[in-house]
Amino acid sequence: MGLFKERKKKEYIIIVGCGRLGAKLADTLSESGKKVLIIDNNERSFYKLSPSFGGIMMTGDATEIAVLNEANMAVASAVILVTNNDNTNILVAQIVKELFDIRHVIARLHDPDRECVYHEFNIDIICPAALSAKEIDKLLCVSNEVEKVL
Ligand code: AMP
Repeated sequence: MGLFKERKKKEYIIIVGCGRLGAKLADTLSESGKKVLIIDNNERSFYKLSPSFGGIMMTGDATEIAVLNEANMAVASAVILVTNNDNTNILVAQIVKELFDIRHVIARLHDPDRECVYHEFNIDIICPAALSAKEIDKLLCVSNEVEKVL
């Protein structure tokens, strides 16, 4: 029975942008056993990865289809867009959704006003400004509760 048991395929995650967030994500996902490929158009950005990073680094502009093909985009389980440019993140998110039919696409957007616009494209949006505002509000509520008790 064990012989015929199908081995679970390793998840293949593509990250676009090896900045502070991209590099941290790549290290974490790779450490947790996922196959990770990270793309950046500036090869110096890869120094942010940990020396033990076990994934693949690829230099290229992710807005180019040739670069996405070279990354073997068609077989990716998820794609995470974390360049420093909202337009790039959203453009590449739409390309990989439409052309490569990637089920799980997550894009970071700095501009909170654009967050809701992209939900209709079935793209998950992470907005650091909105998340931080929520967290700060939570911390303020907790400290107000503590003050009431004291
Ligand atoms: P950060 O500002 O720390 O989040 O870093 C963003 C990263 O995205 C930088 O390392 C940029 O070089 C990278 N980046 C920006 N545009 C592109 C692009 N079109 N393709 C690939 N990487 C990019």
